Parts: sequence; structure tokens; C-alpha cells
Amino acid sequence: MTRTVQVGPPPRVHFAESGPSKPMLIGGQWVQAASGETFETVNPANATTITTVASAGAADVDRAVDAARRAFEDRAWSDMNPHQRTRVLLRIADIIEAHADELALIESLDVGIPIRLARYQIAIAAETFQYYAGWPTKMLGTVNPVDASVHCYTVREPVGVCAGIIPWNGPLTMAAWKIAPALACGNTVILKPAEQSPLSALRFGELVSECGLPDGVVNIMTGLGETAGAAIAAHPGIDKVSFTGSTETGKKILGASVGNLKRVTLELGGKSPHIIMPDADLELAARNAASGFCLLTGQVCVAGTRILVHETVHDEFADALAKQIAAYQVGDPFAEDTMLGPVVSAAQFDRVTGYVALGQQEGARIAVGGEPVQGPGYFVEPTLFEGVRNDMRLAREEIFGPVAALLPFRDADEAVRIANDTPYGLAAAVATSDVSTAHTLARRLRAGVVWVNTHGELDLSFPFGGFKQSGLGRELGERSLDSFTELKSVFVRL
Ligand code: NAP
Ligand code: MG
Repeated sequence: MTRTVQVGPPPRVHFAESGPSKPMLIGGQWVQAASGETFETVNPANATTITTVASAGAADVDRAVDAARRAFEDRAWSDMNPHQRTRVLLRIADIIEAHADELALIESLDVGIPIRLARYQIAIAAETFQYYAGWPTKMLGTVNPVDASVHCYTVREPVGVCAGIIPWNGPLTMAAWKIAPALACGNTVILKPAEQSPLSALRFGELVSECGLPDGVVNIMTGLGETAGAAIAAHPGIDKVSFTGSTETGKKILGASVGNLKRVTLELGGKSPHIIMPDADLELAARNAASGFCLLTGQVCVAGTRILVHETVHDEFADALAKQIAAYQVGDPFAEDTMLGPVVSAAQFDRVTGYVALGQQEGARIAVGGEPVQGPGYFVEPTLFEGVRNDMRLAREEIFGPVAALLPFRDADEAVRIANDTPYGLAAAVATSDVSTAHTLARRLRAGVVWVNTHGELDLSFPFGGFKQSGLGRELGERSLDSFTELKSVFVRL
């Protein structure tokens, strides 16, 4: 049965209304691309163009690098009194909060994120600036225990010109995760948002311009990955790239960084296991498992898309999970009670529906969902497969949509073996009521974060990143300070 999704006219978002193409922020100036090229950004809930934005090329990247380099060498920012730098970061947090409703509307319009979730993401973006605002006054060096005739100490210094290249699934949150720690450490920044979601970053650029940063400290470049993104990754004038996106692109960025040995951190994809032990609270586990792969229409790097369930509770859990999935009805992103918006683009729609067809070809059975949804927007139903083997592509490849596989296991050893049998290692989750089982499994799972009796919760204070092909390095918490600074040792013979 084909379902139809009704969407009303989107609310007016003054900033996003079409008109001349939106320029980008380079060196404190709002400029079009040197080539004059632009690209369109689309509302995925109704498949119509919202507006066009500048499409940066290599010449624009050169210009942004010059501006960021000048701002860095000028030292007005990197040498700013740390208390003063804290105040600037808090001002950025305040201005995000003051414009939270508008920014959430922009995000929903551009990406199809349900409005309540978009507001939550904007709150996290503001909180990220608050969190890193605390650091400039607390980044200590060390005095090292050496011979009495020597004074030896270490200091942390900014890396220099840092680029952030980000995906579309949480645009302003991702931007904040790159920009806030970079600024706290005294770097200058070039941010390239994803081509599907340029608008919140551009509005942020306008807002940040009111916060007392010298020109060129924050530059926002809209452009395509293969042109602007590739030029950033290869640019000899950029000292560091912090990337969040697919594993495939991450590998290209690492390859391109070799020319000047850029510092690179990569937050990449996943195919995360969620292990349901027989002693778990099955209602709670089902709620967490459903949100684990349905939230943000499954377009989440940590999505728990391989749900491993003990064979003795398989059927009971599958029923409970089906009931929880039913709460995720596709709907208009601007309706307050919508839990599941569209996927971000026509390409993503084709990818997700392609995997639903592939799963059936591979011999898996659809337990929930899988029915087509009538457009015009890019809506897909949450879909759960049963009878999945871990060697099927359905269980190995990141889909980035609300599609999960249910896999049975006999005992904890088998669960761990299946869970770790993946090229990825971003996240994992365990549902159990036994504290020893929880910690034993947490220790044995090869993943950057392990949740117990919850799913998807992050805190700015803890390090985030992946094992294996899910990434390189860690960000958030204190770890971002390591990745946005160089450590210098000074050795003075007295
Ligand atoms: P993507 O295609 O890798 O794009 C991410 C960013 O890289 C975009 O800004 C993109 O620009 C740019 N890009 C593309 N090709 C490039 C190149 N050759 N050189 C430099 N930059 C390039 O990823 P996506 O499909 O948009 O996002 C989904 C992926 O992100 C998933 O795999 C997901 O797991 C991952 N993700 C990871 C995390 C994490 O923290 N680990 C968080 C969120 C998402 P265009 O938009 O123009 O292509
Ligand atoms: Mg869009």
C-alpha cells in the first residue's frame, strides 16, 4: 500500500527566501564565487528549490586561505587575552540562542529535520560554544622535571589555519563542533558546509560577524565537495582539516593531506551493533533500538542499524520493536509532533530505497515498513528486516536511512563476534540488566562509544570518534584541544 505524506507550505524564513544568490563570507566580506558559479539548495519535504548559493572553486579557496592566514599571522585573535577570547565565544553562544527559532526553521527547511529535533540541535550548537568558551583560561602547559641547570616547559599553540568540512545531518551542530574548539585554541577557520545544507552556516556567518572577531578568523565557504572540498583538502596553506562525513571521502581527504602533512581528524561512517541480552528490560530496549535507527530519519553516523537479539527473546523483542517503530510516522517536518522527516535529497532517497530492494534480493524478510511513500518530498518508511545474515550487504554497508537488520545470536561470545565483524567501529550499544554483562561487553566491543541501556546520547565532555574505518583521532571534550593545538617544548640552559 502506498502512503501519501501531506506537507503544508513551509513557514517564511526571511533569510532563506530566494533572490540573488547567497554570497559567502571570506575575510569579513560577503562575496560571490570568482567564477560566478552557484548551486541550488532544495527543501526535501517538497522537492522545491529554496534558493541558490555561491559555489566556491579553487580560486575562492585560495582567497579564503589568504584571509585566514593573514588573520592568523596578525595575532590579534591568537594572542587575545584568554578571558577576552572566552567572552567572544560566549557572545557567539548567546547570539545562537537569541536566534534559535530562526536557525531551527532554516535547518528544517534545508534538511527536512523535524522542527523539535532541529531546535534541539541548535541548542547543542550554542552549548558547544559555551563549553569551549571555558577552555581558553584553562589550557595549561607543563614545567618538566629536568636537571637543575635547565628550565624546561611545554606550551600549547594553535595549529594555524584550520578547515572544517562537514555533512548535512546536523549542519549547525557539526559546524559548532569544528569552529568552537578551533577558536578556543586561537586558530582561524574555514568552514565548508555540505552542498545539501549551506543555509544555517551562512546565517551563522552573518551572526558571528557581530561578535567581535577580527575579519578572516571565521570564513564560511559554500561549494561542492569535488571542487571546493577537494581544493581545501589539498591546499598547502591549510594546516589542519577536521572532517565529518563518509569513510570514502575521509580516505580521499587523508590522501590529499600528504602534500603538506596536514593534521587530519576524521569522523566517519558506521554500521553500529545494538545487542539485546535476554535479561534486558525489553520495552526499554525496544524504545532505544527504534530511536537508534529512526531518529533523524536514520541519517546518523552512530545509528544502531544491526540489532542483535538473543534467540530466546527474539520474537517477544521483535513485537515490542515493531510497536515502537510505529511511533515514527513520516510527516511534515514543521508539524510539532513529527518524529520522522524526509531524507535529505533525491540521491539519498534512491540510495535508501535501493537498499530496501537489495535486502529482499539477498533473501532477508521485511518485518516492518518497506512500503513506498508518495512524494513530492523524499519520504521513506522506517523499515526493519528479519532473517539477515551478517555477511549480507544489508548488514555490512552504511545505508544512512531508517533501515535496520535484526540478527539472532545464541550467546554473548557470538554476539560480540557478530558485532565486531564489520569494517566500522564508531558506536555500539548493549541492553542488559546485569552490571557485569554490561561492563564485560563494553570492554569487548571495538567501538569509540558504547551505550548501555540507552542509545545515541552524547555529551560535549567526552571524546568522540571511531575505531577502524570509522575515523582517525578523537574530537569533543578535552581531546579537541589536542587536535587543534601543537605542543611546543622550550628548553632553556640557565
Ligand atoms: P560525504 O559525501 O562524505 O560529505 C561530507 C562532506 O565532504 C561534504 O561537505 C561534502 O561536500 C564533502 N566532500 C565530498 N567529496 C569531497 C572531496 N573529494 N574532498 C573534500 N570534501 C569532499 O558525506 P555525506 O554523504 O554528506 O554524509 C553522510 C556521511 O557522514 C555518513 O557516512 C555518516 O556516517 C557520516 N557522518 C559521520 C559522523 C561522525 O561524527 N562520525 C557524523 C555525521 C555523519 P558535498 O556536500 O558537496 O558533497
Ligand atoms: Mg537542502
